Amino acid sequence: MSGAVMKPATAVRVRRLIEEFALHDLGAPVDLRPVHNVYVPHVSDLEALAGIPAFAIRPPDLVATSDRPALIYLDARLDVPETRLNYAHEVGHVLCGHAGSLPHLDLGEWWYDRDEREAWQVASRLLIPWSVLVSGYTVSDIAMICEVPEWLVEMYPR
Ligand SMILES: [Zn+2]
Repeated sequence: MSGAVMKPATAVRVRRLIEEFALHDLGAPVDLRPVHNVYVPHVSDLEALAGIPAFAIRPPDLVATSDRPALIYLDARLDVPETRLNYAHEVGHVLCGHAGSLPHLDLGEWWYDRDEREAWQVASRLLIPWSVLVSGYTVSDIAMICEVPEWLVEMYPR
């Protein structure tokens, strides 16, 4: 599992979101629809944005609420698991208070980008319930149960 990049304040926000919307109460795979009125998904053709799969527009202040939601734009060409994964990642950018959600076109580049890495770590916490993580399953089992890529399991911040 990966080292500490996630800020303590981010970890608190992620935990609160999971608790407030009972995201992990039904186990895995995690359904993120309960937060759709706070992080509103917009699926559209993002081809004009040179292959960016998703991006987020957050409210002026840090905290997104149902009154002042964040907007999560997702490319219509993503399949269901990719859409869910990118949605969780963009929620991560908003939760972390990142200035913007950067394009992640090149694997080698984003992997080392601190904001990108933190947003993926938020995605891993959202999509992988702790109860599944500590059940003694292998990484590939966890990935299958949670319907996420294995690399996301490996990024889970301990
Ligand atoms: Zn990103």
